[in-house]
Order: sequence, then structure tokens, then C-alpha cells
Amino acid sequence: MCRHLAYLGPPVSLRALLCDPPYSLLRQSWAPRDMRGGGTINADGFGVGWYPREPAPGPRRGPDRPEAGPARGGEPVRYRRGTPMWSDPTLPELAAATVSGAVLAAVRSATVGMPVTDTAAAPFAGGRWLFSHNGVVRGWPDSVATIAAGLPVRDLLTLDAPTDSALLWALVRDRLRAGASPAAAVADTVTAVAAAAPGSRLNLLLTDGATVVASVAGHALSVRTGADAVLVASEPLDDEPGWQAVPEGRLVVATAAGARIDALAGA
Ligand code: GLN
Repeated sequence: MCRHLAYLGPPVSLRALLCDPPYSLLRQSWAPRDMRGGGTINADGFGVGWYPREPAPGPRRGPDRPEAGPARGGEPVRYRRGTPMWSDPTLPELAAATVSGAVLAAVRSATVGMPVTDTAAAPFAGGRWLFSHNGVVRGWPDSVATIAAGLPVRDLLTLDAPTDSALLWALVRDRLRAGASPAAAVADTVTAVAAAAPGSRLNLLLTDGATVVASVAGHALSVRTGADAVLVASEPLDDEPGWQAVPEGRLVVATAAGARIDALAGA
């Protein structure tokens, strides 16, 4: 089942994050170490979203040409495809040339019956948010039809793809728009969908470039915090010390300064 990661910290190249580690997302696309609940490889697409660093201030400054703002918090840029990460001809150069201090990325193993398209690959995006889902909604689509009916019709008409993951993003986004905190938006969505579709696997991952929220509900998740950096990933990217496996039923709320692990229900 899909693998995902999020990073906050000092700027790094996408290559250093996604391609270079011994068990990188790139390697996980063809040789994941921990596939449970179906599938063997993650060949049905991939995606990366990152928050660009502010451009350096130009030679002329003034009210119309402000100093560069903070490095995080603006709208992200995305690159996603419905093909295997290892076969993409553009990614190596793009990843080598792109540097960011806030990244969310995923590789996809499509659930049986769900389409394989560029737009079905995470990250899903809206405004400053990036989102990914590792798992499956059981009984799709009937089990969640009633929940989906609570969304604005426009949101349903503009889903990125007719998949469980795209609907989960619409549900999280709807809560964010209503003013929920990122932690509450993720936790409430997991709780509601788990009640409607028992047995679902609902590892969700959400960031705005400054905070990462991740649920652990049916799949593995690990966290590594370091000097002003945090990495949240479906599986450790290397054998270095410092990775902490997050137990089932938890919610991770992390910034570059550190990670908090709460009970999922009480978030
Ligand atoms: N069910 C989702 C999809 O098909 C996610 C799949 C996964 O986690 N492997 O896109």
C-alpha cells in the first residue's frame, strides 16, 4: 500500500530526500520493506509537493518590492504522475535542482478497481495544503456515500479522481475550511470514515509547510526528529538511529522544532 513522507527543516534537495537514502521513496516504489494489506510494489504513480523558497530580493527595494518573506508557508508546487517513479524521465533532474525546507511526497499502489491517472496520485493540494493517504476505504464507495453527501456538490464534481484518497482529501479540506485545526481535521475525518467503513486503513498525511499532521490507522509510520528538522515516513529511509515507530491509533503533530504524538481519538 502506498508509501508517503513529509519533511520540515533546513532546505534540502528533493534528490537527497526522495532518491539518495538507502530505502528512499524511489527505492520503496519497487522494493518497499513493509507492504501490508495488499500489493507488492508502488508502481501506479508518485508525486511530490514542495514549498518553494522565496526568491532573493532584487536590486531595487521598496514598498512594491518587499524583502523576501519567510521561507515557509506559501503555496506549494507539485509534480505528480500516474507512472512508476523509477521510470520518470524528468524527476532525476528536477529533484537534483529543486531545494526546499518543506516537502510531502508519495508513491502509489492503486487499490483494485481504482483508476491509475496522474491526478489519482498524491499529493492532493488546495491553497497552502498538501495531503496524502496511505490505505484503503473498505466498502468503497457505498460505505462512505452518506458522508460524501455532506460535502458541497462542487467539491464532489471537482474531485481529482474517483478514488477513496481524493474523497478523504475533500473531507479533510472541508473541515479545514470550516476552521478546524489541522490535527482536528485529520482526526475527525479518520474517526468518521472508520465508523462508516470499518476495517479501513487510514494513514493520512497533511502539511501546510510549517506543520505536519499524520494519522496512524492501519499502517506503519515512523518519525525522526533532528536538529531543527522532522521527517515523517511510512518506513525509515535508512538504518541510522533516531527513527521512532509510531504505534497504531496515534496522531503525530510535528513542526521542524519537534513532534508530539497524541491519541488519535482525543486529538
Ligand atoms: N486506496 C488509495 C488509492 O488507490 C491508496 C492506495 C494505497 O495506499 N496503496 O489510491
